[in-house]
Amino acid sequence: MASQSLYRKWRSQTFNELIGQEHVVQTLRNAIVEERVSHAYLFTGPRGVGKTSMARLLAKAVNCIDPNPAARPCGRCHACTTIAEGRAVDVIEMDAASNTSVDDARELIERVQFRPAEMRFKVYVVDECHMLSTAAFNALLKTLEEPPDHAIFILATTEVHKVPATILSRCQRFTFTRHSVAATSAHLRQIAASEGLDLDAGAPEAIARAATGSMRDALGVLEQLASFGQGAITLEQVHSLLGMTAAAEVNALIEALLHDDLGSALRAVNGVADQGADIRQFTRDLVERLRALMLLRATGDPSLLDVGEDELRVLEGWARRADTVALVAWIKLFSGLDFQLRTTPYGHLPLELTVVEALVGDRGLGRGPGTGGRGPGATPSPPVARVAPPVRAESPPITRAPAVAKESPVAVEESPAVAEESPVVAEESPVAEESPAAAPSPEAFIAANADFTVLERIESLWDDIKRDVRPRSPTVQALLHSIRPIDVEGNTIVLLASSQFHKDSLEKPPNRRIVEDVINKQLAAVFAIRCTIETKTETRDLRGQIREARKDEMVRAAMNIFDAHIVEIEPDV
Ligand SMILES: [Zn+2]
Repeated sequence: MASQSLYRKWRSQTFNELIGQEHVVQTLRNAIVEERVSHAYLFTGPRGVGKTSMARLLAKAVNCIDPNPAARPCGRCHACTTIAEGRAVDVIEMDAASNTSVDDARELIERVQFRPAEMRFKVYVVDECHMLSTAAFNALLKTLEEPPDHAIFILATTEVHKVPATILSRCQRFTFTRHSVAATSAHLRQIAASEGLDLDAGAPEAIARAATGSMRDALGVLEQLASFGQGAITLEQVHSLLGMTAAAEVNALIEALLHDDLGSALRAVNGVADQGADIRQFTRDLVERLRALMLLRATGDPSLLDVGEDELRVLEGWARRADTVALVAWIKLFSGLDFQLRTTPYGHLPLELTVVEALVGDRGLGRGPGTGGRGPGATPSPPVARVAPPVRAESPPITRAPAVAKESPVAVEESPAVAEESPVVAEESPVAEESPAAAPSPEAFIAANADFTVLERIESLWDDIKRDVRPRSPTVQALLHSIRPIDVEGNTIVLLASSQFHKDSLEKPPNRRIVEDVINKQLAAVFAIRCTIETKTETRDLRGQIREARKDEMVRAAMNIFDAHIVEIEPDV
């Protein structure tokens, strides 16, 4: 294979070749044909979904010399080829994340006043634009206020909430979505065929799932696998490269759960542990599979699932036997395990306990599955009662990094668990056994912090959530304009409505279902919603204190850097 990366090699050269993002393509195409291209665009969305590819296509399209506007970019003319090769002097690509020199970015932007050297338009592509320096931002803002006719700015970001409103308001904004497993695996198959690579059945889907919607990550993995050498790329190779547990083990455990067969269930867990597999990853895979099963069982609609053909058949078989209530309880139980598995000194014990709880919880333990009390001392704690409560909110779909981490297409672990080193982090404290009324335990702090992390995520996605509700029901979308998320309590998202009417309307089961659906899709998790019309103002309680503390930029920065939690709040004296 050529030294060139597969992602770059197969970067789409025309709109037709682009995978996904049809809504963006359509709008941009129309703009080209009707010659009403804006001077500023903002492309937002997760990494690896084609923002910069699209930016280059647009740069080519506005400069392409093909006589037929509908055929632009042609991919063949001088403008198209020089831009594709990154040699065009009039197309300036900047990565704000890596551009360390503050002055460079500002100077580059200020030079927009000079006319293009050889093309119709001077196009600036600014990747991760939220990281521009203040000076560069000001220069950009000034330019966007009165852009020269020959200038087009294409800003891209993964974190749109960090882009100042003054910039946002001057840009035409497009939201890029993750690629589905089906689209990613189809693309992988096609590229593998062109590269003469043999992929075993199921391998493209496994890669696609691990890439969580990022085509770049998916192709990075394919490239790694290809470099292993001869023969077909097997599912085992994919799994071992990605550190994924074989789907068979997950399936065995689900089979056992569905048959209420505790012996087989525990054997499956121990089988995984014996192989030295990553128990956390196994548990995440389990949760993901159970979630798919629940969606299928609850709706009968496979289009809600992002799975390949083979997998769908297995899920359909299970769905006929599964019980929705039990599924929900299991998902709650297992999704609460991630944090505990990261910090426990007891290996896979938490998973074993949870399996037992899942199957005998409602009989043997005297309470329904998944009904652990929140907070310390909510229930007298038998060993299993400790499994869920303090950690439940940090469910894997929210906090985990995609199986493929940022820096490398194949790294699997998320940011190292710095819990132990970090200065502001909770540890198992020997004095944790205080009365809960006096001082919240470290565990309560962890739970509350985890809840807030989820809340922040929901807040940042709130606009997207409202947008996604619209096609399902414009009425509910309108309703959401008067409603906002204010808290997360375990697996419940608390929404604040501006009136009783709004609250009542949202809580009608069909409406509530739409909102829960969309939220859970956005978060890839299982949350219920609860509506309230009172704002909680008691800042004396733990949640209130944490909420206040998190408003402080320094605190936020420290928490981000150390992946840390707030463990103690000293009152101002
Ligand atoms: Zn062209």
